[in-house]
Amino acid sequence: MPSELRPPAGRRGFLKGAAGALAVPAAAALVGASAEPAHADDGGLPDYAPIPAAAAGPRVNEAGYHVGQIAGNLHWVTDSFYQAMFLTTRRGVVLVDAPPTIGHNLLRAIDDVTRANGRPNKVTHLVYSHSHADHIGAAGLFGTDVVRISHAATAGLLARAADPNRPLPTVTFQDKYQLKVGGETLRLAYHGPNHSPDNIFVHAPEYATLMLVDVLYPGWVPFKNLAVSQDIPAWIKAQSIAMDYPWQTFVGGHLGRLGVRADGDLQIRYMDDLETSTRSAIASVDPAPFFAKYGAQGNSWAIFKTFLDAVADAAAAPVAAKYTGVLAAADVFTRDNAWTLLESLRIDAGVLGPFGVHP
Ligand SMILES: [Zn+2]
Repeated sequence: MPSELRPPAGRRGFLKGAAGALAVPAAAALVGASAEPAHADDGGLPDYAPIPAAAAGPRVNEAGYHVGQIAGNLHWVTDSFYQAMFLTTRRGVVLVDAPPTIGHNLLRAIDDVTRANGRPNKVTHLVYSHSHADHIGAAGLFGTDVVRISHAATAGLLARAADPNRPLPTVTFQDKYQLKVGGETLRLAYHGPNHSPDNIFVHAPEYATLMLVDVLYPGWVPFKNLAVSQDIPAWIKAQSIAMDYPWQTFVGGHLGRLGVRADGDLQIRYMDDLETSTRSAIASVDPAPFFAKYGAQGNSWAIFKTFLDAVADAAAAPVAAKYTGVLAAADVFTRDNAWTLLESLRIDAGVLGPFGVHP
């Protein structure tokens, strides 16, 4: 095992402790109590609204993970930050993603399941949802003789990265790929760029389950800056493409619980509200004070920064208020999400506000 894959004890202990704290006990969340006692000396860190009970997942075990059956031979594992999914087959295990924070607990979770169902515990196939290290950075744990499958674009991105923890795929596809192993089936599909240029949809039709990473966040608002996505209009569209699949269970790759269809509908409403609010804010925030102050100083970037920040603040405020208590961390990331949506509305949709065509 490469030494860089072996977490130092301190980091492992930190992740375990943090994951335990994140898995809010349902009873505590219901009464609005914090999972962690307030610390007098927290360095002045901001306080956020309590996590709604509906956002919390199962409590992780002593080793820092939870493994659960989705249906039949399909399972998922989480550390409450990240998620992976795996199929136990007659020939070996098909694993989708290898998040480094779960790391060696992927092997423990697979052992837990295969000990009980008598199927082989060796990972024979590893599917990459996309190239990002935070989702596949433990791929090196599975040796060299595993079949690694990804979209063709993932191969190029990984070749450029030259990261020993993310070995290159051995099988790539362009549009569709049906993976059949030991009596089990996954259907992989590429619907164009969204979060990343190479992000794929992983469908387990027999188990009515879809895995799509960094697009839908069951119970939570999307990660900062709309999941740091590279193509925002396509990322927004990917939400609807996901809902067009006939799934009942959703694996989003993040946080501590699985999704149901109502979670997808709710995120789409959040994004619709954020777009409405952002369009309204760019039309209503008065740019004059920003041009007056910083224009006089010849500081063009200060005009852009302060005006766009003011629009993002105005856009986010009503949306964060509406979704606090509904989606976890609405007060944490809605402002950053508004900023990114504003920038996409400007440069992708041409909603330029005061920076439009000069009269
Ligand atoms: Zn990603």
